[in-house]
Amino acid sequence: MAKKSVYRDAIIDLHKHDVLAFKFVFKSLNCALCSTPYSKTANEVNTPTQTWCVDIQAMCMKCHEEQRARAPALRAHQCKDPYCFEYTPCPSYCFMELLSSGCFTLNQNLMGYVQTTQSITIPECPICNEEYSIENSQREPFILYCGHGMCNECFAKMSKPITHTSLKYNLECPQCKRRTAYAQESWENPLKIFLRELSEKQTELKRTCGDCEKEAPLFEMFQCNDCGKVMFCALCGMRKHHSHKIVDLGVVEVKKWMNATYEAITPQIKAYDVCFPELQADLIEKIHNFQAKALEKVGKIEGLSYDPAKDELRDCLAIGAKLEGICEKYLGDLRSCNTGIEKLLSRFDEAKETS
Ligand SMILES: [Zn+2]
Ligand SMILES: [Zn+2]
Ligand SMILES: [Zn+2]
Ligand SMILES: [Zn+2]
Ligand SMILES: [Zn+2]
Ligand SMILES: [Zn+2]
Repeated sequence: MAKKSVYRDAIIDLHKHDVLAFKFVFKSLNCALCSTPYSKTANEVNTPTQTWCVDIQAMCMKCHEEQRARAPALRAHQCKDPYCFEYTPCPSYCFMELLSSGCFTLNQNLMGYVQTTQSITIPECPICNEEYSIENSQREPFILYCGHGMCNECFAKMSKPITHTSLKYNLECPQCKRRTAYAQESWENPLKIFLRELSEKQTELKRTCGDCEKEAPLFEMFQCNDCGKVMFCALCGMRKHHSHKIVDLGVVEVKKWMNATYEAITPQIKAYDVCFPELQADLIEKIHNFQAKALEKVGKIEGLSYDPAKDELRDCLAIGAKLEGICEKYLGDLRSCNTGIEKLLSRFDEAKETS
């Protein structure tokens, strides 16, 4: 038994990271406004926080500050509540707890969080100690304005009904004792968005073993290059293909993405590889032509009388200045194109250093 799991883990570990890095960047763990990954700790510019309103929205502290400073009509977050940015923002403790679970790490280019463990530790409701879930409405997380949370069921039990035009429930947060009124007993919130994203990703990657019909993530499945069988689990691989050449399906999938990427990027680059030299050659020919014609025009001034010579001279200078104007504008664009490409090139080197 021990041997099997060592075999399986070794193969999975080998390529799991590639697959996860590709596929498992959680969009919901980046600020919804500036796309910066949230910080795991409080007091940072990218600490997750949320609006204080009936249409709770997650964003980082920096975006909260920026949005708050704007006139309400110019804010990215719009809802019918007039008090969205009225109060001092609290860190979203639920989010920070999730990020600190040890299941996530920032991916190589620091663009987002990827999963580093086989399964993710879902935060629990601090009242009933049940894991939050998106499949069971009672267990859905209810995020409080103070950034703490509890499940829908515990909120229903602990909150007190109040009569107010729009607010119906009053609750003292059991963790920070902050008392706040709420309009409904369940609502959309950033943790729910994360749970939904997680479940979507898991379904997307789930595969069934063609032999034993056990379900497992794609990167725990294999194909056999010797007998041509695709999609079987590690255990069936051990039993039926132990002397065969088997490949991790995650690797096959990554290879597919790689080829698709090649296909997409090649014509993109090729287009400029072809059109730049052509345009350049055309341009140089025109400049030579221009030079010949302009010098010829200047040469004719000698044969003119005073006034027409003066007009002609002015005309020649104007044409020269016009050419300069056109070319200077082009040079500006050419330079910014150059520095733009240089910047992109330096990204390749950065990626090499961090990998
Ligand atoms: Zn932000
Ligand atoms: Zn709002
Ligand atoms: Zn609960
Ligand atoms: Zn609280
Ligand atoms: Zn199997
Ligand atoms: Zn085989």
